[in-house]
Amino acid sequence: MTATIPSTTAEIIGRVPTDLFIDGRWVPAASGATFAVDNPATEETLTHVADGDATDARRALQTAVDHQAAWAATSPRSRSEILYRAYQLIIDRTDEIAAVMTAEMGKPLPEARGEVAYGAEFFRWFAEEAVRIGGDHTITGDGANRIVVTRQPVGPCILVTPWNFPLAMGTRKIGPAIAAGCTMVFKPAELTPLTALLLTDILREAGLPDGVLNVVTTSDPGTVVGEWMTSGRARKVSFTGSTEVGKLLLGQAAGSVMRTSMELGGNAPFIVCADADVDRAVDGIMVAKMRNMGQACTAANRIFVHRSVIDDFTDELAARMTGLVVGDGSADGTQVGPLVEAKAADKVAGLVDDAVGHGARIVCGGRRPAGAGHFYPPTVLTDVHPGAELMHTEIFGPVAAIIPFGGPDSDGLDEAIALANDTPWGLVGYAYTQDLDRADRLSTELQVGMVGINTGLVSNPAAPFGGVKESGLGREGGRLGIEEFLDVKYVARPIRTS
Ligand code: NAP
Ligand code: MG
Repeated sequence: MTATIPSTTAEIIGRVPTDLFIDGRWVPAASGATFAVDNPATEETLTHVADGDATDARRALQTAVDHQAAWAATSPRSRSEILYRAYQLIIDRTDEIAAVMTAEMGKPLPEARGEVAYGAEFFRWFAEEAVRIGGDHTITGDGANRIVVTRQPVGPCILVTPWNFPLAMGTRKIGPAIAAGCTMVFKPAELTPLTALLLTDILREAGLPDGVLNVVTTSDPGTVVGEWMTSGRARKVSFTGSTEVGKLLLGQAAGSVMRTSMELGGNAPFIVCADADVDRAVDGIMVAKMRNMGQACTAANRIFVHRSVIDDFTDELAARMTGLVVGDGSADGTQVGPLVEAKAADKVAGLVDDAVGHGARIVCGGRRPAGAGHFYPPTVLTDVHPGAELMHTEIFGPVAAIIPFGGPDSDGLDEAIALANDTPWGLVGYAYTQDLDRADRLSTELQVGMVGINTGLVSNPAAPFGGVKESGLGREGGRLGIEEFLDVKYVARPIRTS
């Protein structure tokens, strides 16, 4: 079907490159194949992009391998300046990038603009880190030798990203790889290639040398990424996506003992203690639950609320959720867009039905609207049973699942922490309390990589983002983000005494 979107958006989409990007040039797939990119709010096709295969993958990786040595030899300052120019270009083109992002994945325009600011910030951060790659110098215990510790780029990297934050998940990997001096092959998500291709074009315009970043869009991720993973020529894989695919890539990485960074799924607990400021907790859950229509690895998946405040919390949350404006993300005033694809809306509906089957009560929402678009309404469920499937899987939708804990004579903290940790995932946990000792216990005992105390938002380019358990390996952003792209080298040198 031909898109009947507003001409301005159509014009913007029309200017986005749709080919593969290899060795500094836009090239069609070797096979000439393309795949469609759809708008989840209208179900209309926006455009078609090149559908890369194993031949394209090999060419892209060969290019990255060929350029690694020269790129590693460039000055940190020159790499920093490319990143800083790209940061400025992204900010200058905020409205254009946001329009593309909203069209291809559905988030409302204000949220898309927020992601542009957040995503750009990784380039500014890593522009600053590029010139601060440090080392160490010590002397052996016997005083006879120098220990000189330096850092070198790990080598050609494989980057694979999901659709939910199509700009920021790219910049969070490309930024540190450029800063460190690594060349790259990059496969963005099939559902959201346009934002990634626009970002690639911005990096070209910012002066990134040919061959440093090579981008292959594809409808066959197993073949393209599998080609890279089993080549024995890439030295690192940085993946953001599901735990299932992450485990597959970890298995492939073992074949050549490749460095890995894995940002995988989550099942975040959100704990509201008896002493919490309920208004603040509701503000927090609206962010932790509703950012990106609930389609975030950091989304609060299980909301544990002390019985003494559960009625107030539930009523206030239901009122806020009911008041949200659902619609096409490109329309003025929309607060909640569609889910990314039909499969996603079906999955959320199935999880709600299953929870209701396990005794949950629908406080608001729970009914899909008729018509085009993959919409699911903001929904609040209470009395969710621990056996319900949504307790054990990422909901990835605008459904708040509330579970009571504690009682009149118990703060229930042991119970809440045990419930929160009863999952194989460990990305992030949120807790609301005004009691310092409780906050301290929660910070220490939640088995997660990140904790939000009295806040529903932890993501920040200056902070180390990442999880424990099956939520992943390594950290992105912060001081640690660049380390993922550097190898440590130690040089021993005798100290001459005469
Ligand atoms: P996904 O299915 O794992 O996809 C992620 C990426 O992997 C996409 O580019 C995908 O390509 C690719 N892929 C799929 N199958 C592959 C295979 N066999 N070999 C190599 N690559 C393959 O995840 P998603 O559904 O797009 O994204 C949602 C998931 O990402 C959630 O679990 C969420 O929690 C997680 N996530 C984690 C973080 C974090 O930082 N921890 C951040 C955001 C999202 P296609 O697009 O073609 O399928
Ligand atoms: Mg997928």
